[in-house]
Amino acid sequence: MPSNIVVLGAGVSGLTTALLLARDQGHNVTIIAKHMPGDYDIEYASPWAGANSLPVGKPNSKQQTYETVTWRELERLARDVPESGIHFQNNYIYRRTKDASSPVGDWFRELVREDAWFKDVLPDFRVLPKSELPPGMDGGTAFTSVCINTALYLPWLASQCLKHGATIRRGVVAHVADAAALHASGARADAVVNATGLSSLTLGGVEDKSMYPARGQITIVRNDPGLMASTSGTDDGGDEACYIMHRAAGGGTVLGGCLQVGNWESQVDPSLAVRIMKRAVELCPALVPEGKGIEALDVVRHGVGLRPMRKEGIRVEREVVRRVQVVHNYGHAGYGYQTAFGCSEEVVRLVGEAVGVKARL
Ligand code: FAD
Repeated sequence: MPSNIVVLGAGVSGLTTALLLARDQGHNVTIIAKHMPGDYDIEYASPWAGANSLPVGKPNSKQQTYETVTWRELERLARDVPESGIHFQNNYIYRRTKDASSPVGDWFRELVREDAWFKDVLPDFRVLPKSELPPGMDGGTAFTSVCINTALYLPWLASQCLKHGATIRRGVVAHVADAAALHASGARADAVVNATGLSSLTLGGVEDKSMYPARGQITIVRNDPGLMASTSGTDDGGDEACYIMHRAAGGGTVLGGCLQVGNWESQVDPSLAVRIMKRAVELCPALVPEGKGIEALDVVRHGVGLRPMRKEGIRVEREVVRRVQVVHNYGHAGYGYQTAFGCSEEVVRLVGEAVGVKARL
């Protein structure tokens, strides 16, 4: 039976969950959020992502399941749904042994393995021979992944929610239980999904102190390298990264980046921007005409986003807060896109439990 559900948050987590609740379960969904697709804000992580799917979950972890389930759907969208703004890309991961204990090296631990668990999930996995490694790299792998143009994909998700009957409204709540009063029907919601990302640190009724930011700075350029590539670290500090992602459908190429733990700074660091561009051109000279440097990069914009990190990993859980059935879906760190469908399927199951429990009370 359809229930009234409020989804709090319109990032990739909230929109994906809302879509599955409305499309697959037929629930009456209202999405309430402070920030919507089209906004660029430091409190809204989703628009800043590359975004691609580079699995980083540990074998036999929940995250591994989330990433595997999500890959199947991203692959389908890239193949069959061009208007979602996702395309396939050849992807190269390069490893330096010396990065093993840095923050970025830690993030990439599963990704750089030659026996990676996802070698049978993502297509065309192979270990790179020495002849294919750029200078300074000790090893590497290549496989096919996707790159998502977030400027198209987030509005597409929102449109899909509307198509399946959801209502979308701007709103800010101070306490998660207050969201139950905001369902478009005027009736009290049967359940609230909390998909507020990093704001779950301060949102009343949640106040999850294990949340913290990991700052990511990017540069988007018009240049097209024709591939995606990442390294396990850089020589510019353990929290600086080098990655290149060519977005689908005119979205430009995202050059990154960094993983600055505990850093809330919303403004672009210009010297970091120069290092990001230099490293990208060094790793992938095909970004610019032969013999040229970063002066040949055609910059669309620089940007900063805060990854919603959580010490215990992603939280997909149900609890009752002030007599409201709440299902949490937050703490997706640097992998909210590549886990979105797996997490949302689990949320849908928990919402089913929640509304069933409510009916029996
Ligand atoms: P958000 O996108 O932050 O959305 C939170 C939503 O909640 C917003 O709508 C906000 O307005 C709303 N909200 C919050 N508080 C309230 C309130 N009190 N009342 C009402 N509304 C509220 N992931 C990948 O999978 N692949 C990548 O390649 C990738 N690259 C990244 C690169 C960078 C530079 C960054 C910063 C992140 C990257 N990520 C990547 C991570 C990904 O962007 C995040 O995990 C994901 O966007 C988190 O989405 P979310 O919906 O949980 O949170």
